[in-house]
Amino acid sequence: MTFESLGLAPALLRALAEQGYATPTPIQAAAIPLVADGHDLLAGAQTGTGKTAAFALPLLQKLQATPHLHDRPRTPRALILTPTRELAAQVHDNLRAYGKHLRVRTTAVFGGVGMGGQVQALRRGADIIVATPGRLIDHMDRHNVDLSCIDTLVLDEADRMLDMGFAPALRKILGVLPKASRQTLLFSATFAPEVKALAAQFMHDPREVQMAQPNAVAVGVEHCVHPVDADRKRELLLHVLAADSRRQTLVFARTKHGSDKLCRYLDQHGFRVAAIHGNKSQSQRTRALAEFKAGKVTVLVATDIAARGLDIAQLPAVVNYDLPMVAQDYVHRIGRTGRAGAEGLALSLVSREEQGLLRDIRRLLKQDLAIESVEGFEPSWSLRLDAPAPSAHKSGRNHGNAPRNGTKPGKSSHARRPHVQRKQDEHAAGNRRRRKWRGNADSRKA
Ligand code: AMP
Repeated sequence: MTFESLGLAPALLRALAEQGYATPTPIQAAAIPLVADGHDLLAGAQTGTGKTAAFALPLLQKLQATPHLHDRPRTPRALILTPTRELAAQVHDNLRAYGKHLRVRTTAVFGGVGMGGQVQALRRGADIIVATPGRLIDHMDRHNVDLSCIDTLVLDEADRMLDMGFAPALRKILGVLPKASRQTLLFSATFAPEVKALAAQFMHDPREVQMAQPNAVAVGVEHCVHPVDADRKRELLLHVLAADSRRQTLVFARTKHGSDKLCRYLDQHGFRVAAIHGNKSQSQRTRALAEFKAGKVTVLVATDIAARGLDIAQLPAVVNYDLPMVAQDYVHRIGRTGRAGAEGLALSLVSREEQGLLRDIRRLLKQDLAIESVEGFEPSWSLRLDAPAPSAHKSGRNHGNAPRNGTKPGKSSHARRPHVQRKQDEHAAGNRRRRKWRGNADSRKA
C-alpha cells in the first residue's frame, strides 16, 4: 500500500514525502478511501496510530478539489473539534504541514489565549477551523464565526470530549451545523455507549473501522512496575531518571499541585524539567512542550488532561509517578511511547495504596506487567496482584465513579484478604533493556 495508491493529489504526496512518511499507517489505509468516497466514518483509533492524517489528508484533498462558493469566499467549510488546546494546536500544525503546497487555509481557536487574534483570523477567513468546543461556543455567541457552510465535521477523540463534559457543548455546535450534505467523521479510542449515542444521533449510515482492540496499547511497549513505599517515591524517581539523564521522559502525576512539587524537586536536583497542567497558561504549556520536543527539557511532568493527545514522536519512556485513578487513562498515558513500531517503556512507581489501581490496570490490559523492586528502594510491604474481585476502583472510565483528581485511593477491601504473593515477576523477558534503564534494579521471581 502506498499513498499514491490511495489516490492522493501530487501536492499532498509531496508534503508527505517531506514529512518522511513512506507508507500509510493501517488507519490511514482503511479510512482515507472511505472518507474520499464521501462516507461518514466511525473510526476506533487512538493517538499514535496516525489518525490525524487519516482525516486530514482526504479533507485537504476534498477542499482543494471543490471550489468555494463565489459569494462566500473563505467561509469555513470544515470544522474539527478536539478535547484539548494542545490537540487542537497539533492538529492545526499537522494540517499546515500536510497542506503546505495547497491553497487551503486553516485556523485554530482554543481557550487559554486572548480572543483578539482569533477574531481577526476568523474575519480574514479560513477553510478549516480546528477548535475546542468551549472556545468555539464563545465565538459563536459573539457572532465571530459563520458555520453555515460547514460540510465536513471531524470529532477527534470523541470519547475524551464526552469524558470532559463537552456533551452539551457538542450538541449546541452540532445543532447549528448544516445537516443535509454534511460528512461527519468521528475518531475515538473507545466506543462507550455515550459515543455510540452521539454517532447514532448525528451521523448518517457511518462506515466503521477499528484499528486497535479497545484498551490495547502499542505492541512494542514494555510495562514495568516498581513497588515502593510512598514516602520514597521521589527518591526512586530521581534514581531511575538518573540512570539515563539524557533520555526524554514524560512523567505523570495525578494533580496539578503534585506536578508542580515534583517539577521543583527534579529541578533542584539538576534535571532540565518542565510541568504541563491545567493551571499553566497556554503560552507556558506551548513553551514547555516545544522545549521538550526540542530536547532542551528532558523531563516533562504532566497531568492526564494536559497530556491527552500530545504528539511527541518516539518517546522512549513514560513514568507513572502516580497511577491514574481510572485504568483507561493508563492506556492513554502509555499511548505516547512505543509509537510507530518503536520500542517503549512504561514504568509505574506503585505505593501500597495504589495496589487496587494496579490490579484494575492489569485487568484492563490483559497483559503481563513486570514487577521488580529496585535495590535500595525495596518496599516494606509485598505487592499482591492476586486479589480476584473488582474493588471500589472500577476499571474503564465509564464504570463507577472513581474521582479523576484529588483524594488518594483509600484502603481497599483487598486489605482484609489473606496475603498470598503469587508472582512478583510475571514477565521476565526484556530484562536487558530494563536494566539499562533502571541501573541496578533487582528483578525478583516469587
Ligand atoms: P497521530 O496518531 O495522528 O497523533 O500520529 C502519531 C504520529 O505518527 C505523528 O507524529 C505523525 O506525524 C506520525 N505519522 C502519521 N502518519 C504517519 C505515516 N504514514 N508514517 C510515519 N509517521 C506517521
